[in-house]
Formats: sequence, structure tokens, C-alpha cells
Amino acid sequence: MKDFIIVGSGSSGGILARSLQEGGADVTLIEAGKFFRKDTFPRTEAAYSSQLFWGGGLEFDDKAKSAYLRAKCVGGTTNVNQCLMNRFDDMAMDDWRDRSGIDWLTVDALNPHYDKVEDLMELHTFEKKDFNRNAELFTGGCDKLGYGWKYLRRGQKDCKIEEGNDCIGCLGGCQRDSKQSTLVIGIQVAEKLGLEVLSNFEADTVVHHEDHVVLLGEHEGQKKELSARRMILAGGSFGTTKILLNSGLKKALPALGKGFCQHPQYMAFGVFDEPVDSHKGAFQTVASGDPNMRKAGFKLENVYAPPIAVGMLFNSYGREHQRLMKKYRYMACIEAAVRDQPEGGELDVDKKGNLIVRKTLTEQDLVRADKGIEAIHNVFAAVGAKEVVDSPFYFGLHLMGGCSFGTDPNKSVINPDFQVHGHKNIYVADSSVFPSAPGINPSLTIMALSQKMGEELLKN
Ligand SMILES: Cc1cc2nc3c(=O)[nH]c(=O)nc-3n(C[C@H](O)[C@H](O)[C@H](O)COP(=O)(O)OP(=O)(O)OC[C@H]3O[C@@H](n4cnc5c(N)ncnc54)[C@H](O)[C@@H]3O)c2cc1C
Repeated sequence: MKDFIIVGSGSSGGILARSLQEGGADVTLIEAGKFFRKDTFPRTEAAYSSQLFWGGGLEFDDKAKSAYLRAKCVGGTTNVNQCLMNRFDDMAMDDWRDRSGIDWLTVDALNPHYDKVEDLMELHTFEKKDFNRNAELFTGGCDKLGYGWKYLRRGQKDCKIEEGNDCIGCLGGCQRDSKQSTLVIGIQVAEKLGLEVLSNFEADTVVHHEDHVVLLGEHEGQKKELSARRMILAGGSFGTTKILLNSGLKKALPALGKGFCQHPQYMAFGVFDEPVDSHKGAFQTVASGDPNMRKAGFKLENVYAPPIAVGMLFNSYGREHQRLMKKYRYMACIEAAVRDQPEGGELDVDKKGNLIVRKTLTEQDLVRADKGIEAIHNVFAAVGAKEVVDSPFYFGLHLMGGCSFGTDPNKSVINPDFQVHGHKNIYVADSSVFPSAPGINPSLTIMALSQKMGEELLKN
């Protein structure tokens, strides 16, 4: 019997696959999506959206108000994200400690684990010389208004932007193994040490036994059953919560599915007379670094999206839609991401076992969103935008919660040792364990928690 089966291969699963395999364990990594590598990632936006993501590109909440993006491929969402790497601050950790009752949730306690995962990757902190015009407009507007901003730090190695590579292309998977996804820094390293990877394998349920766990699912369209001494669920907020709900754990664990957060993101476009070419070069290099915005519960980032995605963000038709799309090269874009409250979100399954996402933004979330959008308008006005187009839609790219960790089995799902309460052989350290939204990019912390859990598992 295998020592470990890891379900899901993103920020959490990819790091665990490497650390457990390096520690001498016998590991199988299963992943619902396909196995692409640098030379096989689909090349066009239409092709990668349909092949690399759940829902063929987008998923929605039950009211179709919010859209969600999460990857379905080996390497998970780290293949398609921007790979911005941030450590959490005291504000985020204090809130986690208060809500969970877990006393080791401090920045100091996590720092050695942040150090260890950062040692696995190449990191680059952007500088002014990396800026495209979108970043110049963002920082220029912030400077005029006295808003603080900061350079972002990204997991990347030898991107060759100076030779004309545009980072926007790596939203469909990096074609030079330059982005430090867990495909690159975790799975491909672990494969050389004997890691078994089963792609196109969607886990459905788990059955816990005293000395092992059985996993039921579908591999390449065939029903399949696998067993291991320990099971690690790393399917992310949606994936892990769905497996535990379908495994019938809701009755024993009433908090299962609760506390879903998403950092709702609102994008607004400033239209200029000259080309901005926001899609060129390193397209996301700076963010707000203003303590007042942090306290107010939102942040601003200079971002952009490829044309199909931008086309979907406008609430317009016919000629008006054409007019806006013709301005694609003339638009700057800023996004406001809100630190939302967990009370408004819940994950559930229907009778067929399909995931249902319920997310009501609270009064506080809406106030935060309004403040963020107002700040974007101020920045664009300060740098002379001719028009500002707000997208009426909001997105969830950071999916968190559903299996929150804590000391009380009535209020949480995962215990301080990363085990599902009452199920000592099932472990979770992915984004589903977040007790609340940090308001900070989550992936480095998911990796650090997973590294910590891997280290503890190997000690045992
Ligand atoms: C466009 C975009 C940009 C982003 N940019 C950043 C950024 O710059 N910095 C940052 O910190 N965060 C960013 N994020 C968010 C970040 O990537 C995620 O929060 C993080 O990867 C979540 O890690 P995870 O391990 O919980 O889940 P994932 O990385 O999503 O991995 C889960 C994996 O499990 C698989 N899975 C799920 N269910 C099953 C099942 N039943 N059976 C088998 N496999 C299953 C999935 O297919 C997936 O591969 C971004 C996200 C998106 C969409």
C-alpha cells in the first residue's frame, strides 16, 4: 500500500509531492485535469481557457453574480496564476488566530516555512525598469494622490521580457518553465525521484479506516479505487470541500462548506488617447502599498487580461462593444480586490454531488468594494484618462475556506495538526483551510502551510 495519496496538484499538492517524495515516502499524486508541460500547453486564449480550467473556463455562484477561475491540470492554479509571492502580515495572522483558536498561527512561526519554500524557487522583485505604460500610469496617479504603492515580487526565472516575451502569455501556462509553478518547482523535481502522477483522475469520495483511507473516483473515464496509509486532500477550496461533502462528513462536521471567501475583484479601465499596451511586457508589477487601504479592506493592482477575457468584462453589445474592443491597446486597467468576510460564503453539493457556491457580499464587503472603485477612478482622473469604464462583474481568483482549521470541531473542519477532525488519516493544508480572507495573495502561504505539514508527516 502507498504511504500517501495526494489529491490535487496545485500550490499545496505540488509542494507536498516534492517534500514527501524527497523525504523517502512512496507517493501517488492524482489530478482531475490533464498533464501539460512547457511544450504542450495550448497556445491561444480560447484553447487554454477551455482546456486548463474547470467549467471550460469559468464557474459561477448560484445566482451567476460572481465568476470563478480555478485551474484543472497538473500544477493546478499555479500554472495559470501570476505567481506573485507575498508573505502574510500580522493583521491576517491575528485574525486567523482569533477565529481558529490555533496559537501557532503567527508570522514568526510561519517564517521558517516561508524561508524553506522560497528556497525552492527563483524570485524576482520588479523595478522601475520593468514597468510597462500601465504601471507608469498606475504609479503616476498614486504619486499625485499621495497613495502608497509597492513593487510586486514574482516567482520567475529568466523570463526574457527584454527579448519581447509578454507575461500575459503565461496565464495559459508558461512555455519556458520560467514561471515558478509547482509543476516546475515541485512535481517535475519529484518525478525524477519516483513520484507517480495519475492525471485525468477525478476523486469523488474518501472512506476513512483505522489504518488506511480508500479513495473512490474516475480515472480516464473508468471507476477506480485506490488505498493509502494516509490521504492528503489538496483539491483547493472547491475541490477538497466537495470531496468531503460527498463523503458524507457534513453531519459530523457542521462547519464543512462554511466560510467561503474569494477576494472579489473589480476591474476598471481608463481609456487614453495614446496606446497604453497594457498587455505588453511584465504586465503586473505594482500594487497599492498604502496602510490606509489595507485598513479599509481593499488593495489595488495594475493588471490586464487577454482580449477574450476583456471582451467579457464589458456590459455592452453591438457597436458599443466594438467601440470598446477597438480601444484594447488604449486602455489602462486597475483592479480593486476586497478582503471579504467569510460569513457571506458557503459551499454545498446538490443531490448529484455537483458543487453549489453561495456567496452574498456583506454590507462591509460592498462598502470596501465602493471605496476601492472610487480610488481607481481617482487614479485614472489624476493621469488624465478620457473615459473610465467599470466592469459590472466581479471575480474570484483566490478561492478560500470551506474546511477552515481550528480547535473546535463544531466550528472548524481541520485540526491544528492538519487532520480532518475525527479522521486522523486524512490531511488538508490547501486554500480550503483558510479561516478568513487575508487580503493578500494566498499561494505562498498555502505552500508554507503545506511545507509545514509535510515536515510533520515525515517526522511521524
Ligand atoms: C488567474 C489567476 C491569477 C492568480 N494570481 C495569483 C498570484 O499572483 N499570487 C497568488 O498568491 N495567488 C494567485 N492566484 C490564486 C492562487 O493560484 C490559488 O489561490 C492557489 O493556487 C490555490 O492553491 P490550492 O493548492 O488550494 O489549489 P489549486 O492550485 O487550485 O490546486 C488544486 C488542484 O486540485 C485539482 N482537483 C480539484 N478537485 C479534484 C478532484 N476531485 N480530483 C482530483 N483533482 C482535483 C484541481 O484540478 C487543481 O489542479 C491566482 C489565481 C488565478 C485564477
